[in-house]
Amino acid sequence: MFDATRVVRAGLPPPRQGEPFLPGPVLAAPYHLSGDPAGVPYTYGRFQNPTWAHFENALGELEGGPAIVFASGMAAVTAVFGVVLRPGDVVVLPSDAYYTTRRLASDYFAAMGVQVRMAPTAGDAQRDCLDGARLLWLETPSNPQLDVCDIEALAAAAHRAGALVAVDNTTATPLAQQPLALGADISVASDTKALTGHGDLLLGHVALRDDALAERVRTWRTQTGSVPGPFETWLAHRSLATLDVRLERQCASALAIARHLASRADVTGVRYPGLPSDPAHPVASRQMRRFGSVVSFVLADRERAERFLARCRLVTESTSFGSMHTTAERRARWGGDAIPEGFIRLSAGGEDERDLVADIEQALG
Ligand code: PLP
Repeated sequence: MFDATRVVRAGLPPPRQGEPFLPGPVLAAPYHLSGDPAGVPYTYGRFQNPTWAHFENALGELEGGPAIVFASGMAAVTAVFGVVLRPGDVVVLPSDAYYTTRRLASDYFAAMGVQVRMAPTAGDAQRDCLDGARLLWLETPSNPQLDVCDIEALAAAAHRAGALVAVDNTTATPLAQQPLALGADISVASDTKALTGHGDLLLGHVALRDDALAERVRTWRTQTGSVPGPFETWLAHRSLATLDVRLERQCASALAIARHLASRADVTGVRYPGLPSDPAHPVASRQMRRFGSVVSFVLADRERAERFLARCRLVTESTSFGSMHTTAERRARWGGDAIPEGFIRLSAGGEDERDLVADIEQALG
């Protein structure tokens, strides 16, 4: 089946006379439970929820392995670290990974005796840090600098070294890139971003190839209570149906914007893995089927970047990406990433690309 068909149908229960295609959210803390709980599918809201089950079935179909949904992307990242890493273990992270992922590893897991090694995404540099590693964590394309690494090659090297491989697939989504099919053991994502795409909820998930490891991740969620709200989960499933349509528009607009920016002398460092001139393009075009909504570029300095953002009328200044609303921010306002003061991360939304390019042009003007 083609992507558009898969996302519309993913996770829907068999149709039943007089019932909605996607049953509404089940809001319950305890379920009625008399006597022996063994074999009862729904007992307590932290353990199971039918709305999660539908969405997890959908994600499982798209990812190619069992999926567990979490309250946020960071809850999903934490679950993988928490289940896999023990004192004395080595984790290899991208030095350009999402800032909070790096902080989580160095603030908490390092303090508990996990050795954290970091190397850039570009050039598959993490390959040189695998000796004795327990977990190789990839983020490709990386946020916010959009470098790309070769998942298949790195997964093979990590497996030879005895490490598990997890990929943060947030910027791509499973329609653009399939980490499990490329050899990773674990695919993790913030579904706050493009997967749900409306900027109205926080959610994350972990998908795995191994059922036993999946069960440990599910137990982590139950024991830590990092559970998603059923209403957000239902909204996420509802939003999933339009993923193909949204990505088609967003990726086309992102490419048009990247091309336009690259043609201007006052814009430097334009990065978009779909741009044929981008250093990440050869690897990206081998392992990605679409290149995502995020483009990054550099303006002369902080003042020029702030002026650009203030002048945009269709680009909302905000710190997330993947939404139907085009957004951008001067990323250095947060600190923590090795980027220039004028670095902008922009995410193309669902507006008409002609309006977006014209707005960006007038704002740069
Ligand atoms: N991974 C990446 C690549 C991200 O960009 C983010 C958030 O920006 C996260 C994980 C964390 O996701 P959340 O904000 O849903 O916790």
